[in-house]
Amino acid sequence: MSTVQAQPEVAITATELLIDNRWVPSETGETFATVNPSTGEEICRVAAADAADVDKAVRAARKAFETGPWSKMNASERGRLLYRLADLIERNAEELARLEALDNGKPVAVAKRVDVAKSVACYRYFAGWTDKIQGKTIPIDGRYFCYTRHEPVGVVGQIIPWNYPMLMQAWKLAPALATGNTVVLKPAEETPLSALRIGGLILEAGFPEGVVNILPGLGSTAGAAIAHHMDIDKVAFTGSTETGRLILEAAAKSNLKRVTLELGGKSPNIIFADTDLDEAVEGAHIGIFANQGQVCCAGSRVFVEDSIYDRFLEKSVARAQARVLGDPFDPKTDQGPQVNQAQFDKVLGYIESGKAEGAHLACGGERFGNRGYFIQPTVFAGVDDKMKIAREEIFGPVMSVMRFGDVGEAIERANDTVYGLSAGVWTRDIRKATAVANGIRAGTVWVNCYNVLDTRAPFGGFKHSGIGRELGEYGLQQYSEVKTVIVGL
Ligand code: NAP
Ligand code: MG
Repeated sequence: MSTVQAQPEVAITATELLIDNRWVPSETGETFATVNPSTGEEICRVAAADAADVDKAVRAARKAFETGPWSKMNASERGRLLYRLADLIERNAEELARLEALDNGKPVAVAKRVDVAKSVACYRYFAGWTDKIQGKTIPIDGRYFCYTRHEPVGVVGQIIPWNYPMLMQAWKLAPALATGNTVVLKPAEETPLSALRIGGLILEAGFPEGVVNILPGLGSTAGAAIAHHMDIDKVAFTGSTETGRLILEAAAKSNLKRVTLELGGKSPNIIFADTDLDEAVEGAHIGIFANQGQVCCAGSRVFVEDSIYDRFLEKSVARAQARVLGDPFDPKTDQGPQVNQAQFDKVLGYIESGKAEGAHLACGGERFGNRGYFIQPTVFAGVDDKMKIAREEIFGPVMSVMRFGDVGEAIERANDTVYGLSAGVWTRDIRKATAVANGIRAGTVWVNCYNVLDTRAPFGGFKHSGIGRELGEYGLQQYSEVKTVIVGL
């Protein structure tokens, strides 16, 4: 293990709330600590927004939406602002990647290649949409001229998680701004720093007052205030299914705000015997171990066809054991710590339950090192579909390997879950691949690949994995209201 640096050099330039283009403390003066998961030590304190701050931000966002320069701006000009923001993020890539590594624990190199690069791509993609959002003319009966307008929803509340802090912010902000909405965004309490740094770049890009408001704070206070607010027109949320339910309930009890939810998963990754074995081993490895296993679409249930089960397991264990854990600031590191003590305890708890329920621990299963929240890449073999580790989202570096006989059985067992976010299938047989792709009840199916996410392709869940889609043209639609205009001729 590379030694974890106690104080990596990372500039922290913003720790307050961004409301109406000004950095302000919270009304109560409260702050909370954000922690470096590699060491468990406090990095700094950050202003904690509460209901009064949310009110203030919503007023600023409402004003910007109704009467501010934003409301009168040409669509193409909104695009130019988004392009400028993308350029600024790209220019500050190194600093942003280091900030993400410090606050979240992911390796700097990964943060740069994935989080920063994909954020830039997302802002650019939606920047291009701003002046291409068009309604229709519809030939209704009678002497009328009928057309539709795609108008912004209004003030949008956005609540994001800690696993891809900067990227989830991009997935939320880019389509909302492209369609002309204004935003009140709450980052996760574990990882507020990159969201605030991007706030600084939003100011530098020249977005008008009140368009983007960023309020770090706790879910139970700031998050709940957003979900219950009577003057927020829509909430977009990514996180746990449990919190997703609370948000839907709050919307129902307040002003029927529109809700889109991107929630958890327990995704199957199905490996047929006719596949390229090494490719599938690598795909399954990345499918579950990427981002410390903290991925909503993680391929946590790996179903392997009988005849290659033993060879697959042996190779997967060797691959997991070759994974390099350690300091996120070391370029050789593949895997950093889990995000916090609670997630660390939760994942180790699942590992204990797997052992207690009789799964075979093929490798890993322990803490790594003696400080921070590192967990060894863990592989369980002989997992039964009824075990807790096969049913619940672990959100950590734990692979469960199961054996199957034929296509029908694989599809049936893959679908035996409340979740439906994604799935993978590995085979050279196009008929098997399409049978699985059609048979799986999930928002994304990857054939001979895994975790391929692109800002142009929609992403979201069936069943308990969510409501609505993000990214691509489908994602854009969720940020506008359709208005029908009928003119008597
Ligand atoms: P979470 O509670 O769903 O957190 C996600 C976001 O929701 C955070 O910003 C959180 O604020 C906020 N929040 C919490 N309670 C809220 C409430 N009552 N009203 C409004 N917003 C609220 O997730 P978590 O507790 O961090 O993690 C628990 C589990 O969720 C994980 O183990 C994993 O299984 C799942 N998860 C899934 C994803 C995903 O990408 N789908 C991402 C993260 C976690 P705070 O930061 O203050 O809690
Ligand atoms: Mg932190």
